[in-house]
Amino acid sequence: MQVQEALRQVQERIGAACARAGMDGGICRKRAPEEVTLIAVSKTKPIPLLMEAYQAGIRDFGENKVQEIMWKYEEMPKDVRWHLIGHLQTNKVKYIVDKVAMIHSLDSLHLAEALEKECAKANRVMPVLVQVNIAGEETKFGIRPEETEELIRRAAGFPHIQIRGLMTVAPYVETPQENREVFSKLYKLFLDIKGKNIDNIIMNVLSMGMSGDYEVAIEEGATMVRIGTGIFGMRDYR
Ligand SMILES: *Cc1c(COP(=O)(O)O)cnc(C)c1O
Repeated sequence: MQVQEALRQVQERIGAACARAGMDGGICRKRAPEEVTLIAVSKTKPIPLLMEAYQAGIRDFGENKVQEIMWKYEEMPKDVRWHLIGHLQTNKVKYIVDKVAMIHSLDSLHLAEALEKECAKANRVMPVLVQVNIAGEETKFGIRPEETEELIRRAAGFPHIQIRGLMTVAPYVETPQENREVFSKLYKLFLDIKGKNIDNIIMNVLSMGMSGDYEVAIEEGATMVRIGTGIFGMRDYR
């Protein structure tokens, strides 16, 4: 399937999921499709495919490797907003602070310190999401839910970091409904922290949902979905 047709279908499904939000007893309200940002996850994919998405109007692209953002940044138009969605090592922060629009994977104070230092040097304020390991999977990055508020309070003190919300990578499941509870837990944590009105943070982004489960994530409050396979097809890691 072509990228453009795949995108059209994804966008249609996002619209339908926005309208369903809050039905079935969920706590999230209905939303307009414009309130949900579609991030096209382009890792491993070649520039011509990214350009197909770009030509169809996509400006938000997600990558999980610093190296890959670095070279794709050079090849793609400059109005692309790059989202770093993978684990970030402190020693690589310096390569991307001038290239990415948002970092979804803040998961330690150590990384926050490195970000603060490099963003100060680059003279910019970086929008950042805290990655939470809601399901407690050992193989996943992200901090524990109960440590999230503390990390946010500490990071809020850094002038070059702007905390904007939370992110999670849900478990791999057979049916998307199995992740509903993971998403609603993150939404509740998000509301809880937002309600505390911590200085210098703006809690308005909830990044959750991938190709297999983004509709459920939207029903449970996602404002950003990260979709790779559903737009570009399967990845080949050979
Ligand atoms: C690869 C990746 C995605 C996209 O996964 P798909 O299942 O291909 O949609 C989303 N989020 C993160 C963090 C990823 O690494």
